[in-house]
Amino acid sequence: MKVHEYQGREIFKQFGIPVSEGYVAETADEAGALAMKINSPVVIKAQVHAGGRGKAGGVKVVQNPADASGVAGNILGMEIKGLPVKKVAVVRAVDIEHEYYLGVTLDRESRMPMILVSREGGVDIEQVAAQTPEKIGRAPIDPLIGPEPFVIRKALYSGGFDADEIKGISPILAKLCKCYLDMDAQLAEINPLVRTKDGAFMAIDAKIDFDDNALFRHKELDAFKEESEVDALEAEAHGLGLAYVRLTGEVGVIGNGAGLVMATLDMAAAAGRKPANFLDIGGGARADVVANSLSILLKDPNVKGILINVFGGITRCDEVAKGIIEAAGRFEIRVPLVIRLKGTNESEGRALLEQAGYTFEESGMDAARRIVELIGAA
Ligand code: GDP
Ligand code: MN
Repeated sequence: MKVHEYQGREIFKQFGIPVSEGYVAETADEAGALAMKINSPVVIKAQVHAGGRGKAGGVKVVQNPADASGVAGNILGMEIKGLPVKKVAVVRAVDIEHEYYLGVTLDRESRMPMILVSREGGVDIEQVAAQTPEKIGRAPIDPLIGPEPFVIRKALYSGGFDADEIKGISPILAKLCKCYLDMDAQLAEINPLVRTKDGAFMAIDAKIDFDDNALFRHKELDAFKEESEVDALEAEAHGLGLAYVRLTGEVGVIGNGAGLVMATLDMAAAAGRKPANFLDIGGGARADVVANSLSILLKDPNVKGILINVFGGITRCDEVAKGIIEAAGRFEIRVPLVIRLKGTNESEGRALLEQAGYTFEESGMDAARRIVELIGAA
């Protein structure tokens, strides 16, 4: 789960990371009033779940606070990477002398949290990492021991930071590591951390991405949940308790168990059409879960056909069958539907569906080929 910069700033503050003074506004008037309250040059910043806001024109320094509402009005009318800007942060502008990059993320190769730092932070960090990887310092954090001071220093040394920088930045980097670990984040990033004209170090951006599987441990993040949803259909599906991810193809897929669902996505693609989604009804799903799943898929205008691939273990095929029949009673299934149903209570499930006029495919791959036949190849 991603949070907005203004929310990330609040979390950073709780961990003692110095951040510039900032507020959030939903209208140009509100932003103008906040700028007048700050009463110095301000930065107006689009709050969207996308990086590169600066380059897209979503971050503007405003010298005279009286101009802030006009600038905020423009930014509130923008779309950045397809996301409408609904909020702006109004932040006291900082006199920047230098921009650094500090980040902690999960390194799957070493299977450890990894500290990444650079003396060349700012909006071109991706380019720095791609073209001059030697300018990125790094050090893994042993998850059993935590970020020991020597690990923090090692990261900064390997990034070429000088003694003064190491002295000023080490405590901030240690707090960022603590924030990453304590909050079960998969990314915690300050880009840029700046050195101001008077020699202080301060975060002027905040990016945190939390591990969804650990959110149950962080009730304090519930308030941020709703806003983190960018796709309305995903939000609706998650509201119904479904494990649903929207993809870009045309074959709606429903299955039980993440492995089987992912294999089914591959089967659809191998048969010639891309999947429109991932949807795992989980183990032991009841009829209403299946019906709700169908209702979500049918709301996606990209879905041209639906492939249900269930291998019943804990999940009972007759419950799945009841769910399909319930769905057909509740709303029109406007696209072709292909079903593969095997395992626990298979014969009961099939009997119910046969009565309702459905047929079956014997394997997932047969079902994938059939749905592509019905939709037509791409
Ligand atoms: P991003 O582009 O989405 O990462 O947004 P940032 O918050 O990182 O801002 C982008 C750039 O805007 C920074 O790298 C700075 O160069 C500039 N910027 C942001 N805040 C300030 C500020 O307070 N003062 C000045 N002078 N520049 C700022
Ligand atoms: Mn940034």
